[in-house]
Amino acid sequence: MRKLRLLRLLLAAFSFLGLTVSLLDFTGTAGDYLGWLAQIQFVPAVLSLSLWTVLAILAATFLFGRVYCSTVCPLGICQDLVGFVRRLFGFRFPSSPLPGAVKTVHDVVRVGLLVVFVCGGFLGLHYGWLEPYGIYSRAAQTLLGPLWGMGNNALAEWAARSGSSAFVAVETVAPPVCVMAVSAGTLALLAAMALWRGRVWCNTVCPVGTVLGQVARVSLTKPKIDAAKCVMCGLCARACKAHCIDVEKGKIDLTRCVACFDCGAVCGKGALTWSN
Ligand code: SF4
Ligand code: SF4
Ligand code: SF4
Repeated sequence: MRKLRLLRLLLAAFSFLGLTVSLLDFTGTAGDYLGWLAQIQFVPAVLSLSLWTVLAILAATFLFGRVYCSTVCPLGICQDLVGFVRRLFGFRFPSSPLPGAVKTVHDVVRVGLLVVFVCGGFLGLHYGWLEPYGIYSRAAQTLLGPLWGMGNNALAEWAARSGSSAFVAVETVAPPVCVMAVSAGTLALLAAMALWRGRVWCNTVCPVGTVLGQVARVSLTKPKIDAAKCVMCGLCARACKAHCIDVEKGKIDLTRCVACFDCGAVCGKGALTWSN
């Protein structure tokens, strides 16, 4: 699975950086080339009735599991960045899966939030506080946008002194404090949850994750543990950001697996494979 993991990392880096730059670039140039990354986000595609995009995401999930969550969604990739920092400091997740009662509570919460999200959408209530792309785009534009503008203006000043017009100064307007506070608070909560339990936001809060999880339950290809080769070392479970591997039972909860391929990459016995 190492090659699949490398491919996942490359796709995630491209979509995350491309989307972020297209959100911040006020010239519109990046948007011309990379604006499609915003159009392939699940909820915006549903709201714009982009049937083919929605079907493509559902088909990819049916074929390969929640690859959307590991390669396309910027909020999921943010959580992986936090997890990367956690690993840098040598912290691994526990090798045991979520206890049954905790898992049941998570399931009730995630279905409840999905119902609230869908009903809220039909009633015309603001849904942005739960919608992954909305959360990320708001945070990028309100928190990184002013920094991006200041960086541009510093370059414009430097270019002007050198007699170049490669950069043009723009007026930077700070977003309202309350919007910045909401964005920063949401990101802080997300980061704290990711530090604590990896993709717990994705598997408890996010309505898109709940929908895709149900499709992934019957996905054609999935991670599998070969009991004949497994020595129950628990390395895969400690590497799993979704806490969905039960080594003792040799089972993987496909509704929570975000198709990151990290587990197979750490299994030195070749016991964890991605197959049908
Ligand atoms: S579960 Fe939601 S927040 Fe997490 S990666 Fe998937 S779409 Fe994004
Ligand atoms: S890392 Fe491999 S050998 Fe170790 S518990 Fe997981 S599947 Fe079994
Ligand atoms: S079981 Fe866990 S580590 Fe393996 S692909 Fe799924 S989420 Fe990643």
